[in-house]
Amino acid sequence: MPFSHFGFREEILRAVQKAGYTRPTQVQAAAIPKGMAGNDLIAIAQTGTGKTAAFVLPMLHRLSEKRAEKPRGVRALILAPTRELALQIMENIRTYGQFLRVRVAAIYGGVDEDEQIAILKKGVEIIVATPGRLIDFIGRLKVDFEALETLVLDEADRMLHMGFLPDIEMIVENLPKRRQTLMLSATFPKEVESLARRFQYQPAMVQIGRRSNPADTVAQCVYEVQGHLKGLLLLELLKQPKFKRVLVFVRMKDGADRLTDFLKSSQVDVVKLHSSRTQEQRMKALQDFKDGKVQVMVATDIVARGIDIEGVTQVVNYDLPVNPEDYVHRIGRTGRAEAEGEAISFVPRGELNLLNILELFIGQRLDRKKLRGFDYHQVVPQSPLTEKPAKRDWRKRTREMELKREGKKPTPRAVKKAAGKPVPKRDRS
Ligand code: AMP
Repeated sequence: MPFSHFGFREEILRAVQKAGYTRPTQVQAAAIPKGMAGNDLIAIAQTGTGKTAAFVLPMLHRLSEKRAEKPRGVRALILAPTRELALQIMENIRTYGQFLRVRVAAIYGGVDEDEQIAILKKGVEIIVATPGRLIDFIGRLKVDFEALETLVLDEADRMLHMGFLPDIEMIVENLPKRRQTLMLSATFPKEVESLARRFQYQPAMVQIGRRSNPADTVAQCVYEVQGHLKGLLLLELLKQPKFKRVLVFVRMKDGADRLTDFLKSSQVDVVKLHSSRTQEQRMKALQDFKDGKVQVMVATDIVARGIDIEGVTQVVNYDLPVNPEDYVHRIGRTGRAEAEGEAISFVPRGELNLLNILELFIGQRLDRKKLRGFDYHQVVPQSPLTEKPAKRDWRKRTREMELKREGKKPTPRAVKKAAGKPVPKRDRS
């Protein structure tokens, strides 16, 4: 089905064509008609499936088709869990809306607010925001939402996990009741269902693939590894030429710091992304990784969620996620938009229970791999009692040693001869 099938304005079709998209992805094919019709919608789609365009394209079309009721009000609001995702959505809106006249602002914490306030005061039609900073602004700046037509909650499950529910509730209280509400979520837990019931009106539901199922384009495996050897195992893997752009997830910020230092000291080009870094540092790290200036980015879940980086060849779960939903998100960073990717998880023996929970969650057994010397079967050295070589081997080895001591070469022939065994004569003819 071509994009022209949806009845988009020519300016949008041109932008889509310029972006190089030839046909809609599955979630776009299912969600765009509902979005265009003005219906409320829940889309359960894995990351990397093209879900941003699935809500942005109809939103842009509807905004540009209809004249604004108020000349300066905000007409669409998109809430996203992290600054990186908010910025990325804004960039996408700019790309898809490049032939239209839309003013869009991203509102997020961690940066000087003056610039954001100035943009808001000038008036924008679309706001992409993280809930915390927006709440702060709504109170102080009296942002006018009376003309709002569309609300989008992106990564709804993640926002709830991050404890944004009270903020979201407060924001929605400020919005007109008559609006289109689109909700996107990688998973569909009860909390998201209840949010939909409260904020949406007869939503259509679009579900791509099985619930909680990681992107199908990602080959997944786990490595058995002793905890203290994880860094060395990673180094070993990074030597393979196919490890070109590798996103490594760790659980804690200080873990990210330590691993980054270790990789740097081993001459790996690496950047790190976690919430204690300044916004500027985070953006620079992300850009260097996106531009291919570094081979590896080490990140924690909180910041890496939802961000779109082209050509991530491997996602490495250096630490297994405690929350299995995070696994789905993490590995969604590779194999995006139907490209092939690899997801590798390191599993120390003490975390086998986490692996079991994870496999139950995704409904799939992950392929086990080990690299000699790193796996935990090597923890206890092989015992000479249990692994005693056959008797004959002992004798053979003793003879070899004797020959060596005599300064002779322990060739198989010489060993046989020393044992008094018949040795076939050499063919000298
Ligand atoms: P998303 O799931 O929205 O983060 O999108 C993942 C990636 O897919 C982004 O790099 C998009 O530019 C790309 N993408 C979105 N829609 C299409 C399409 N129809 N054809 C090819 N690539 C797409």
